[in-house]
Amino acid sequence: MTRLEWFQSKIGHMLYRHAICSCEHCQSVAKLGIIVRDENHAQYLYEIEGTGYQGESKLRYFETMEEAKGQSGPS
Ligand SMILES: [Zn+2]
Repeated sequence: MTRLEWFQSKIGHMLYRHAICSCEHCQSVAKLGIIVRDENHAQYLYEIEGTGYQGESKLRYFETMEEAKGQSGPS
């Protein structure tokens, strides 16, 4: 399964990532997760993953909050 296929298999499911900044969106995704809405959303998440955001740490999505937390904190 490619990473894109993984995102597509998560349509309708909740994904989590750690907050890479203190903005409302990041805090929300870290605490509440984000639901992959449809094919376009899966494609979007796939494309932004690994690209970094505002020059900060790279984005990485996980199936559980626990896994995402393991990625948190400045290195
Ligand atoms: Zn943010």
